[in-house]
Amino acid sequence: MILSNFGEKFSAHSGIYEVMEDLGRALAKGGDVVMMGGGNPAHIPAVEAVWRRRLQELLDEPGAIERMLGDYDTPRGRLVFLEALARFFNAVFGWGIDADNIAITVGSQTANFLLFNLLAGQTGTAGATRKIHFPLVPEYIGYADQGIGEGMFSAWKPDIEHLGAHRFKYRIRFDRLDPGVALLCLSRPTNPSANLVTDAEIFQLSELAAANGIHLLVDNAYGHPFPDIVFHPVETIWNEQIIHTFSLSKLGLPGTRTGIVVAEKEIIRRLGVMNGGLVLAPGSLGQAILEPLLSSGELLGLCHDRVQPFYRERSRHALALVDELFDDRIDYHVHVSEGALFLWFWFRDLPISDRALYERLKAKNVLVVPGNYFFPGFNEPWRHKQECIRVSYCGEEKALRRGLAILAEEIKQIYSL
Ligand code: PLP
Repeated sequence: MILSNFGEKFSAHSGIYEVMEDLGRALAKGGDVVMMGGGNPAHIPAVEAVWRRRLQELLDEPGAIERMLGDYDTPRGRLVFLEALARFFNAVFGWGIDADNIAITVGSQTANFLLFNLLAGQTGTAGATRKIHFPLVPEYIGYADQGIGEGMFSAWKPDIEHLGAHRFKYRIRFDRLDPGVALLCLSRPTNPSANLVTDAEIFQLSELAAANGIHLLVDNAYGHPFPDIVFHPVETIWNEQIIHTFSLSKLGLPGTRTGIVVAEKEIIRRLGVMNGGLVLAPGSLGQAILEPLLSSGELLGLCHDRVQPFYRERSRHALALVDELFDDRIDYHVHVSEGALFLWFWFRDLPISDRALYERLKAKNVLVVPGNYFFPGFNEPWRHKQECIRVSYCGEEKALRRGLAILAEEIKQIYSL
């Protein structure tokens, strides 16, 4: 079969795809598997009850289901939803945006793909490749395979700040910015490390973007104001240099595939055209479920009173388990847990690779994600990339204890303690 360059690049081998397939197969085999590998949000009954109620309300409202299932929305989404979102963001953040600053996409994954390739890649002028730059790695693995062109990513090496014997935090090391960079991009809080890039760092990145006439993409898939899996207060600033993406997925609605982009109007107009060509219109379900919850205040309440406390407690509990189960003589470090769904472990001078550790854990029916996949655009050799793993704490508490106990025991053996 002769494939196009695009086809070859987009359907070829991908490391993370292989790991996700492997995780899926291990789960399907059944048995007593502890799943700490995926990025699925938890099922929170109080939150699921709201989705169930909203679906019933849509069924009961004359014409609502027919419109939702039977009509295409505009390529940018439902106008009433875009308007409700603009009012919502202005009320929560004090921004001055309107509906023309917002586009809906098929999940925020698609938003990233469209934005990356709208702004970066080959340009007409002298065939130069404009790049997407990650100011901080580790960073979301889902970005790694999204550039249509070759060599579209670059990254700075982070500084590591030790916070006590077994905790640390990555800090952005503001280094030289290549003139070919078109877009700075980061997730906040960060998947995988649970790092909340500080307000000061965001401000400095925004200034850097403005000084270079480029954009800063902030991916709020876990962020404030929804799903609000953020464990201390943050500011969310917007200006024409900043592009925000949001998602309904970690709120508990990944099946609706709803992503939201806030940006300057020219970018949004172009995203609308791209959406039209690619998917005609985004799906309506997530928009229909959420819309009345924006203006009534119920969404903010749900995130603040249910979603955030759930994950905050899970995170606290997971860290307490780690401190209880891990041998103090081991040189282990966990990134401070400031949001998202994960613990990010760093085993300094780990005698085996992260991939070998993943295989050993899989043999014991414990599934995690090896860390080296989370360094897109950072190609320098650095032992740290092979010393980390990502662990999700979304599963049942008993399973979490068992998974962490097996990890602690395995690590003890590997360090020959
Ligand atoms: N951004 C980050 C940081 C994520 O972790 C994910 C999914 O895990 C996404 C974006 C994509 O999410 P979705 O396409 O479901 O909105």
